[in-house]
Amino acid sequence: MTYFADFGLAEPLSRALADKGYTEPTPIQIQAIPPVMEGRDICGIAQTGTGKTAAFALPMLHRLTANPKHRLKYATRALVLAPTRELVSQIAQSFTDYGKYMKLSVTTVFGGVPIPRQERAMSHGVDVVVATPGRLLDLIERGSLDLKQVEILVLDEADQMLDLGFIHDLRRIVGLLPRQRQTLFFSATMPKAIEELASRYLTNPVKVAVKPAATTAERVDQAVIHVNQSEKPALLQLVLRDKAIDRALVFSRTKHGADRIVRQLGNAGIVAEAIHGNKSQPQRERALASFKNGTCKVLVATDIAARGIDVTGVSHVINYELPNVPESYVHRIGRTARAGADGQAIAFCAEDERPFLRDIEKLIRQKITVLALPADFRAAVVAAQKVERAAPPAPREEPGREDRRDFARRPAGGGRPGRDPRAQVRADGRSGRPPARAGGGGGGGYRGGR
Ligand code: AMP
Repeated sequence: MTYFADFGLAEPLSRALADKGYTEPTPIQIQAIPPVMEGRDICGIAQTGTGKTAAFALPMLHRLTANPKHRLKYATRALVLAPTRELVSQIAQSFTDYGKYMKLSVTTVFGGVPIPRQERAMSHGVDVVVATPGRLLDLIERGSLDLKQVEILVLDEADQMLDLGFIHDLRRIVGLLPRQRQTLFFSATMPKAIEELASRYLTNPVKVAVKPAATTAERVDQAVIHVNQSEKPALLQLVLRDKAIDRALVFSRTKHGADRIVRQLGNAGIVAEAIHGNKSQPQRERALASFKNGTCKVLVATDIAARGIDVTGVSHVINYELPNVPESYVHRIGRTARAGADGQAIAFCAEDERPFLRDIEKLIRQKITVLALPADFRAAVVAAQKVERAAPPAPREEPGREDRRDFARRPAGGGRPGRDPRAQVRADGRSGRPPARAGGGGGGGYRGGR
């Protein structure tokens, strides 16, 4: 058995871990913490939910305090790059939590919020910057941040960064860093393109890996219910009225779909919030906060927005629509059963989604248990239709770019779904293929150091 105490982490870190009640490191932490403390580069295959953030944050904080330096204006000692605002906020929160007994400053950088606040934060110099690539480049171009002092670079969710079209931004950023540095590279998957990127940026890395993505599925109790698309609202209402549900994360494939689900639930008297790329940063933060503090038990999310959502106690993940990329299913259901807890995942599968279900079952190498429609389902459908007829008219829905593309990608006759990852939508709702310069993409905002 390995304990955190065995690593010899700085005392303030041990105290912060004790406050959190963490005594035993997770497998990725056991593999990564000692070599990162020694200053080695890391190439890690791990997804969120494995304890990956602490696996790099703890030894980084340890190294930064073991070698204290004067903060230089417009400079940072460590840079963490992540693909989405939510993930950036969450990583920064981990640094702040683990480093709470240290005198290190942590700043977030992502688009969608005014840049002057971020510039002010940089003017004092920072120890750790956690950023999405686009806004980081904006700050650099404005002369508000210089990367020459960076000692440690982390690339988190590298596969997602590539999918979201951040490769040009990444190359530019890495080109501005000192060659002499420590680099920690994490990705949920390691396809060829990611491997090449890793080999370019890493020097003699220690390779660490935790269970492949598909096996997360083993810890989650999964079920599928076959249902007509038009009757999904009634089924969702029935499922959500189950008292066993503490917190449910409902996945919609599109942003407009997510808004529609929230509206229909509201009409039926069930409080829900949506989180997706069309929501402003304050709206997202408010939705997430009320989900976390329990005032709202149902959060409806799209895949991209759900990245980085780390809420303990998600008892149920409901796939209102099945994802057409099977790996997304594993990622979605991994939002429950985090850090060892058990969770339940229920998928709603319409006739034209059966090919998606087959792909998912192939990936997870298991058949998902089929549940019958609840006994009171017919009555619920009639009731839901009545409520909808009585509800005020819905705002006209113009499908956004994401939605149009999504529909276009659906297989016409149940064929194999398209898998072009570039078709995904960036955190800011822009299309996946970047222009030469990806603007503030995905990035935005500042959540201040301490
Ligand atoms: P991550 O994979 O970094 O997103 O972490 C997933 C969740 O596990 C977060 O809520 C962490 O706070 C939690 N966590 C990380 N390390 C540990 C640990 N050693 N023991 C218990 N929980 C942990």
